[in-house]
Parts: sequence; structure tokens; C-alpha cells
Amino acid sequence: MARRNKSNRVKKLLKAEAKPKGIEYDTTLEDCRKWFDILNEELFDNSLSHVPFGFKWLRVCWAYYEYFPKTHERGESIIMHKRYPSQRLFVECLAHEMIHHWQYMNLGWRKVDHAEEFLDWCKKAKSIGLRIGEEQSE
Ligand SMILES: [Zn+2]
Repeated sequence: MARRNKSNRVKKLLKAEAKPKGIEYDTTLEDCRKWFDILNEELFDNSLSHVPFGFKWLRVCWAYYEYFPKTHERGESIIMHKRYPSQRLFVECLAHEMIHHWQYMNLGWRKVDHAEEFLDWCKKAKSIGLRIGEEQSE
């Protein structure tokens, strides 16, 4: 059986949705959900549970993963900047935070970091055409 070339899907979508140079990308909830599902399938074999999104004008990073390890409630969420220089950066930042979500769910909050496990995911992301770990998000 022919295996679908996974790297093509993300690349094609990014190319099709790319705005002309100089036009910034405005984050939408619709895109967050859409790209979460795409990346969940392409990178994480659909193993990630859905997570709420928040939007802020951030000062020191492009996005961050929010979690509350000391409460027993599941309060994690992904906070995205409201605007990105490009949609590609938006997608790469989302993928970055999804890795933290994976770490939190599978390894626990002490392992939400940029160590070895994270770098393995960066390599996997690179294989579908995304550069993670080089953008500026937390
Ligand atoms: Zn990070």
C-alpha cells in the first residue's frame, strides 16, 4: 500500500494560504483549531487531547503553554499572540506549544521543557517542513 507523503500536506497548505510578503497574519480561533487538528494528525498520530486557546498581545514570546500542576483541575491552555509576521510562524509556534502539551500529558509538568524530548519532536517537525525551536516562543 502506498504511503501518503505526509510532509506534502503541511507544506502545500502553508503555501496555499501564504499571504503576500509584508502582510501579517492575524490569529483566529478557527485557524488554531484547524491547525491543531492537522498537526495532531501529522505529528502526534492524533494522540493529543483538545485544549482551549487564549489570545493575547504578548511582549516577550510568540506563544506559551499554560498549566496549573498544583490544582487537580485540568486547566491547561495554549495562549497565542494575536498577530504573527507570517502564518508559517503561527503554525510553528502552535506546534511548539503542542509539544509542551504532549510533554505535560505524557511526562508530567516537571518535563515541560526544551530538553532532549523536545528536540526529538523538533526533528520530527522538521521532517514535515516546520522549523521549531528556532522561533521565539516559550
Ligand atoms: Zn517552549
